[in-house]
Amino acid sequence: MNKIEEKTVSFHTLGCRLNFSETGSIAKGFQDRGYKIVPFEKASDIVFLNTCTVTDGADSSCRNLIRKAKKNSPDSKVIVTGCYAQMESEKLTEMPEVDLILGNTEKYKVFEHIDHTDETAKIDLTTEFWGAYTTPSDFKHTRAFLKIQDGCNYICSFCIIPQARGRSRTISINDAHKNALELVESGYKEIVLTGVNIGEYEKGGEKLTDLVSKILEIKDLKRLRMSSVEPNTITKELLTTLKNSGKYQNHFHIPLQSADNKILKSMRRKYTIEEYEEILEMTQDFFPHCAIGADIITGYPGETEEQFQRTYNFLKSSKITHFHVFPFSKRQGTTAAKLEDHLPTQEKKRRVKKLNSLGNEKIQNYSEQFKGTTSEVLFEQQKNGFWEGYTPEFLRVRVKSEENLKNTIQSILISEAYTPEQHFMRGNIR
Ligand code: SF4
Repeated sequence: MNKIEEKTVSFHTLGCRLNFSETGSIAKGFQDRGYKIVPFEKASDIVFLNTCTVTDGADSSCRNLIRKAKKNSPDSKVIVTGCYAQMESEKLTEMPEVDLILGNTEKYKVFEHIDHTDETAKIDLTTEFWGAYTTPSDFKHTRAFLKIQDGCNYICSFCIIPQARGRSRTISINDAHKNALELVESGYKEIVLTGVNIGEYEKGGEKLTDLVSKILEIKDLKRLRMSSVEPNTITKELLTTLKNSGKYQNHFHIPLQSADNKILKSMRRKYTIEEYEEILEMTQDFFPHCAIGADIITGYPGETEEQFQRTYNFLKSSKITHFHVFPFSKRQGTTAAKLEDHLPTQEKKRRVKKLNSLGNEKIQNYSEQFKGTTSEVLFEQQKNGFWEGYTPEFLRVRVKSEENLKNTIQSILISEAYTPEQHFMRGNIR
């Protein structure tokens, strides 16, 4: 440890909400051991990096991040975990900046290693479910990410996650309830259920709907969300439970990837575009005007202009409100990497740009309907003199207030919608 009296640790997380959830619980573990959490940019005794490996681009972001971490804090011990550490441990051992590498399941054993960071930890994939699931109180989010599932049994052609995180495994309903209760008792008003493929939740015959029902019993839990849910796992029963609770927020994330059936089949997605549309309709029958986010991969090997256009047209006319567009990225070890007809980078960039510009238009149009209405906003943090929080639709809102609004839910009269320059709405406390 360095000479700083109080032991300090900083965190940086790349990738999915599950990674954020895991970093949160590990940060809590450090706090319980007397560590002070400091911003990533500041010098600290330990830097903990939770990485991602979804694309080859993500790999280079991880390496850059590691270099940056050591530059910011030359005396600190740099611990690298997450999917990149799991998949590319050999490359990481060659980086002098790295003091300890932990695989995905070893990340929770960090406390056994922090005083002995001279060795690379053993890396393997087990089916054990690890971790405590509480988020420390000084994390900037006021949403708590509760991990209920890890790994994936699907074999989407482009995805490395089943190899990086292993087969699906889940927490028991009782443990999920216990952890959720702890979060609520420690002051969280909103919980986001996270995992790699939470729709596949199954434990002793009980499904996601059973888990959600149990968590919704927690009286002081005000708001519930789910991270991404695969379309083929959304059921009427689940939607009925969410709707009846009055606590589920008006927002779903339902990955699409492509609107072309041939591409969907090659990707080994478990739905056709017609089935996806039915799921969207059913979801919006239960939650009219809800926000729907979707992941899109464009430039998949062999994707023709016509197939790209089909996805574009579908997105334009569908009720999807937010898109997260990714150019197809060749990930070694996946089936899609071996396909022929990879598109030139420039073409993939063009398609991403076109979809992103449509996405910006759609989110602006969607947010327009809230102008002049009142939204319940859970405030997270103060930024540049404004308090910032999220509506039930997960639209960002900024208000000016002298009061401390952190972790409060306020009725906000929305005065301005999103614009091309401003990716948030403005409003005033009622
Ligand atoms: S559902 Fe498909 S894309 Fe998602 S984690 Fe599983 S294999 Fe990857």
